Amino acid sequence: MNILETVLYFTAFIANSYAADFCYDEEYCNPYSWGNKFPSCHPIIDQHHSPINLDQQMSRNMSLGALQLKGFDTVQPGEWTLKNNGHTVVLQVELGMEVRGGGLPGNYTTLQLHFHWGSNSTNGSEHTINGRRYPMEMHIVNMKTVYYPNFTAALEDPTGIAVLGVFIDVAEAESDSFSVLSNLVPAVAYKGKTAQVAPFPLSSLLPMNNMSQYYRYHGSLTTPPCSKAVEWTVYEVPIYISYKQLSQFVSGVYHSEEGAQRVAPLYNNFRHIHDTFNRKVHASKDAALLSSAALPVYSLLLCLAPVLSVGLS
Ligand SMILES: [Zn+2]
Repeated sequence: MNILETVLYFTAFIANSYAADFCYDEEYCNPYSWGNKFPSCHPIIDQHHSPINLDQQMSRNMSLGALQLKGFDTVQPGEWTLKNNGHTVVLQVELGMEVRGGGLPGNYTTLQLHFHWGSNSTNGSEHTINGRRYPMEMHIVNMKTVYYPNFTAALEDPTGIAVLGVFIDVAEAESDSFSVLSNLVPAVAYKGKTAQVAPFPLSSLLPMNNMSQYYRYHGSLTTPPCSKAVEWTVYEVPIYISYKQLSQFVSGVYHSEEGAQRVAPLYNNFRHIHDTFNRKVHASKDAALLSSAALPVYSLLLCLAPVLSVGLS
C-alpha cells in the first residue's frame, strides 16, 4: 500500500467511524451523550476511559525513562496536511516517524497530531493536574507498527495506540515553532478546509528539556468510538505559546462549514474527566510528581494572588 492509499484508507476509516456525528456543545451529542450512538463511550464502572485527573495518587516506576522518538528531530520528506475536521484541527503527517521505549510494548508509527482547547485561558486541556486544566493539550497519535495501516486492528488491541499528551500553557513570548501551525489556522477556520504544511521537526513542539518527566496509564481515545486501546504518555512540563497564539484557536475555528447558515465556533473540545477506578497511574523515573513546578502558570498566579494583594494593600 503506497502513501496515498494509506492516507485514503485512514481517511475512510475516520469518515466511517464518525459518520454518526458527535459534538461538544449540544445536549443531544455532547460527551455525556456519546454513549447513545457509540456504546463503547458509556463510562461503565471499571472501564478504562480517558481523560483522567492526574494527582498524587500515582506510583513511581523507576523503569520508565525517556521515549525514543525516531525522526522527530529531522525534517521529514513529503508534505503534511492541516485540517479542520469539525472537532479539532489535525496535522496529518506522512510515514517516517516512530515512537518506542519508555515502557511501551512495541514500536508505534506516528499518524497525526491534534489539539484540544477551551474558551479562555483557564480551561481547554483534557487531562487535569490536581483538578486544573491547562489552556490547551496536544495529542500525538501513534499506532502499533505491526498493524499499520489497519487502524481498526490497532483499536482492538488494548495497547494498539500510543498517544503522547503535551500540555500547552500561555506566556508572554510567541512560540516560533507553534506559529507554523497557528498562522495557518485562518486557512482551516471552517470544517473540511485543509492547508499544506512543509514538514518541520516535531520535536520543536515538545518540552525537549523535560522529556523524561511524564505520567503513564492505560486509557481510551477521548473521542468516539472511545476505544480502550491507548497507552497514554502525558508529559509533566508544558510547552508555552502566547495568548495571541491561543486566541487564534479559541476565536478562529468553527465546527461548521464555510457559508453555513449557522456559523458555530469550535472551542471547549475536551471530554470530561473519568474515574481511574483500579487503574495504576505511573510517574516516570524523573517525574517531579506534581510539584508546584508542574502546575499551570495560571494556577500559580491564583495561588499568589492573595499574597500579592496583601503586599499591595
Ligand atoms: Zn485528542
